[in-house]
Amino acid sequence: MCLGESEISSTLLWFNMLAVEWDRLGNFVVERRFRTIDFTGQMILLGTGTSVGVPAIGCDCAVCKSSNPKNNRTRSGAILGLPDGNLLFDTSPDLRQQLLREGIGMVNAVVFTHEHADHLHGLDDLRLFPFALGHAVPIYCSTLVESRIRNVFDYAFDRREPTHAAAAPQLQILNIDANPFDVLNTRFQPIPLVHGPNCNVLGFRFGNVAYCTDTNFISDTSLELLHGLDTLVLDALRYTPHPTHFSVEQALEVVDRVRPKMTFLTHLSHDLDYESANLLLPENVRLAYDGLRIPLT
Ligand SMILES: [Zn+2]
Ligand SMILES: [Zn+2]
Ligand SMILES: [Zn+2]
Repeated sequence: MCLGESEISSTLLWFNMLAVEWDRLGNFVVERRFRTIDFTGQMILLGTGTSVGVPAIGCDCAVCKSSNPKNNRTRSGAILGLPDGNLLFDTSPDLRQQLLREGIGMVNAVVFTHEHADHLHGLDDLRLFPFALGHAVPIYCSTLVESRIRNVFDYAFDRREPTHAAAAPQLQILNIDANPFDVLNTRFQPIPLVHGPNCNVLGFRFGNVAYCTDTNFISDTSLELLHGLDTLVLDALRYTPHPTHFSVEQALEVVDRVRPKMTFLTHLSHDLDYESANLLLPENVRLAYDGLRIPLT
């Protein structure tokens, strides 16, 4: 059985976290309980769809009408269950539904790949986490992503006294570049990726797993950083070329170069039917699907 076929079971261990909310004068307001699953040691792909999602609104194609849940793709993102907390890659516009679907009640930190709307516009859903964390949510991103966040979510940086707790996301922004950095006591190696003519993206390697979405070109220097992987999650939009995403064929060329033990293709459009596309792929390459769990190695 290859790695991709193994069903990773996770303990559905619900635990409660208690957080107490105080008002400005220090008066007790409310006690909140949080519950979350424990998925330590795994990456869960929260979303594996392209920017409009699959099904696409109003589309009459076979994949959009498919009853196979693996053809139902929310916007792309992933979350790591690390020993010191849950680390989220990107805040997709579907973030709330993704976390509810997986039973994940806590996000301890967020790392952004790039500033596109399908990776950013769910950021408001981070509002509840400071209750449990006791502090703002740490956000690791490039300076470009930071400036987009400050524009799009300007209300999160309003200097006026908030009307109530959780009125706006509380964010602690920490800038990253191509240099390795540590979050939740785990080391991340950024992988610079090209995403069409106007956008640079960061992929990330952590141990022997890498998450590389939204790219149509990876430089030799970046490919060097992807050798010796157990699992690579890699962009592949559709069969035909696209100005900002890999086609399936181009993604397979990357796989040939870096030879990970297992590759999952993500950011998939409605051109790719889960069952029929997998029949055409090498056995160590599979389409990803929402909810896929990958062991952290
Ligand atoms: Zn995208
Ligand atoms: Zn369609
Ligand atoms: Zn993008």
